Amino acid sequence: MWFLLASDTEAMIPRTIIEPFRIHSVEPLRMTSEAERREAIAAAGYNLFSLRSEVVLIDLLTDSGTGAMSSEQWAGIQRGDEAYAGSPSWYRFEAAVQELFPLPHVIPTHQGRAAEKILMTAIGGPGKVVPNNTHFDTTRANVEATGAEALDLVIPEGLDPALEHPFKGNMDLARLERFLRERREDVPAVFVTITNNSGGGQPVSLENLRGVRELCDRYTVPLFLDACRFAENAWFIRERERGQAEREVADIVRDIAALADGMTMSAKKDGLANIGGWLALRDDELAASCRNLLILTEGFPTYGGLAGRDLDAIAQGLKEVVQHDYLRYRIRSTGYLGEGLLRSGVPVVKPIGGHAVYLDARSLLPHVPPLQYPGHALAVALYEAGGIRSCEIGTVMFGRQPDGSERPAALDLVRLAVPRRTYTQSHIDYVIEVCAEVAKRSSELRGYRIVHEPLALRHFTARFEPLSG
Ligand SMILES: *Cc1c(COP(=O)(O)O)cnc(C)c1O
Repeated sequence: MWFLLASDTEAMIPRTIIEPFRIHSVEPLRMTSEAERREAIAAAGYNLFSLRSEVVLIDLLTDSGTGAMSSEQWAGIQRGDEAYAGSPSWYRFEAAVQELFPLPHVIPTHQGRAAEKILMTAIGGPGKVVPNNTHFDTTRANVEATGAEALDLVIPEGLDPALEHPFKGNMDLARLERFLRERREDVPAVFVTITNNSGGGQPVSLENLRGVRELCDRYTVPLFLDACRFAENAWFIRERERGQAEREVADIVRDIAALADGMTMSAKKDGLANIGGWLALRDDELAASCRNLLILTEGFPTYGGLAGRDLDAIAQGLKEVVQHDYLRYRIRSTGYLGEGLLRSGVPVVKPIGGHAVYLDARSLLPHVPPLQYPGHALAVALYEAGGIRSCEIGTVMFGRQPDGSERPAALDLVRLAVPRRTYTQSHIDYVIEVCAEVAKRSSELRGYRIVHEPLALRHFTARFEPLSG
């Protein structure tokens, strides 16, 4: 059984949820031996980001820009109009964004972090603090690069990997309120990340977003969404929040959008595109200064960092990503991976998130202290054993502090991110098998030390050495 539907009250609905598409062109996978992989990862300084992707069999490094586009999106690529200014592709893109997020100013960028960089340059700076449920790594880096502080205020349940809670991405409203009461003058915006990527791909409820909005109104602070996985978040709201079960996902998205003063977005996630992003906002003056920054680094305001064809691919992707058949399959397929791992005794963050399954490396490798990077050790082992590329989300990614010290991250996780519409059930069954095998001999895995790291975002380029013993 591929995707077993857990709960459905209507009669005569098939229990198997199938991929709502068939395969149109294929990309061959290159098989490698374990010896070949051990050599490749050693040559890469034990950094999975430094591998050539040809030596990766199943690439779960990220769901960002790695999905398959639809035939209609490829048609959009052909339709793309490359006029420098005012291209029809731009107008289709702007209309598709505003159909879901009716914000007056839409500023295209080449990807999400470019939108973050522009916004933070405009509103950040020393002495400022940006609260978020949990900052994603590039968001945190862009806040800190301006001298501002990035503050994570997710609910305590969101930090307990074993705890079941329908909306583990929720903001801790009491702490946010206390913080705003004291520091409101220093807060240029409150951010909410939907779904909460660094916290396990967990959703935020509509009720919680309304609570954040109320606090932002009370303290007159703008509310921004880091909206990369808005459609997956809206699907969880539909499935889990009272009174939402019969609603169209697009309407739930519009409810979310109505609460926000602005958003940053990576179209490489729920844009179903391979590149792209945007910044959208209400405030005319802030939009004008962001457009000035856009022209310096990205391009003219009707294309940002993108080709016209990319704008068309995103416009079509935004229509497809809110379709229920797609989202039902998407969320179920991630759940299938997570449940398979749980059945095999591999500890994972619960409940299973939308775009990824997060292995709890700290609990699987209790003999590897956080500063010897248990998540990293597990990720390298998965690659060596089965050619699976995953991503450490833990002390390697978040351990280095702005003051130069190092401390354990809140969690040491390994993310298996599922690219959209890309892998089939047998690929996922293989992943479950490899993870189960590695988990069985987890007591043999050893930690790592970092032998070289850059000043910021060290996980991308650091080099490691295995510790012996
Ligand atoms: C991917 C991501 C970003 C950054 O987007 P890029 O397109 O990779 O630059 C920001 N926030 C979250 C939550 C993300 O998942």
